[in-house]
Amino acid sequence: MDAKTFDAKSLLDSLFENGILFESGIDGLYGRSGAFEEVIERFERLVTRLGAPDKATRIHFPPGMSRATLEKSGYMKSFPQLAGCVHSFMGGEREHAQLLGMMADGGDWTELQKATDVALTPAACYPLYPTVAARGPVPAQGLLFELSSYCFRHEPSKDPARMQLFRMREFVKIGTAEQVRSFRESWLKRGKAMIESLELRCEVDLANDPFFGRGGKMMANNQRDQGLKFELLIPVTSIEKPTACLSFNYHQDHFGRTWGLKFADGELCHSACVGFGLERVALALFRHHGPDAAAWPAAVRDVLWGV
Ligand code: ATP
Ligand code: ZN
Ligand code: MG
Repeated sequence: MDAKTFDAKSLLDSLFENGILFESGIDGLYGRSGAFEEVIERFERLVTRLGAPDKATRIHFPPGMSRATLEKSGYMKSFPQLAGCVHSFMGGEREHAQLLGMMADGGDWTELQKATDVALTPAACYPLYPTVAARGPVPAQGLLFELSSYCFRHEPSKDPARMQLFRMREFVKIGTAEQVRSFRESWLKRGKAMIESLELRCEVDLANDPFFGRGGKMMANNQRDQGLKFELLIPVTSIEKPTACLSFNYHQDHFGRTWGLKFADGELCHSACVGFGLERVALALFRHHGPDAAAWPAAVRDVLWGV
């Protein structure tokens, strides 16, 4: 974690050397040290403390979600390249013998597996919308949730900030356009102040999601033109291309329409979410303040360990 080396591969190597991350043989899949986890725990507490006055309902979803929910969300239309679906062996004795034979021959035994009803969760908020819709009309003041989940995205990389399995903490507001926009505004301010209190330099910028294919370019432009996504960027592996550590997304009535999220008078709900990439924030802290959290600046330790 030398201040001069500022590229992805050397940061990853130094994280392994310092025992902060552990290799698994797969890019983007790492073991985490106790120290790394403690930083994440402390950061999550900070996030929860900042959000406490808003009295969000906390839900912790598992890293797998209903495949049908993912399909209906439109995820496969926008991000087929990132999705992961859980497959299992569902055959009998004969297929089992065939499977073992294929494995012994070094063949592709996975074709004997079938898709289960479970998909890996790509973002913490996807399982939420149908769950809320099933509970009936949304109250006039809207609803606020605080979520946390391991997420999967198929984007193997040597960049330690681009993992395949990582955690996201999110606040999600479901309400009127005005309610969800002011929620997003308040977190744009709070998020920036929080990261600055950790003595990390950051900037907030307009962003777009990596929509797939030819049509994706248009969707990305549209998302930018309408100011639907902002990111808080911190230099982690590059100064020119800082890493998105927090994101602030306004979905308009996309999820409201998809899941029938409505107020009692039948009006469709809008939604917005604020996502905190927990590993990315921890990596930024280790990158800027050094491999030993006990030696971090007192002000930073105070913010994280003070309460
Ligand atoms: P990027 O542009 O870097 O791919 P993103 O636009 O895909 O980021 P979001 O979809 O908004 O990010 O996800 C919410 C948050 O989850 C991000 O702000 C980031 O902190 C974190 N995140 C996203 N992808 C990854 C990943 N591959 N590894 C670790 N954290 C991630
Ligand atoms: Zn979300
Ligand atoms: Mg991404």
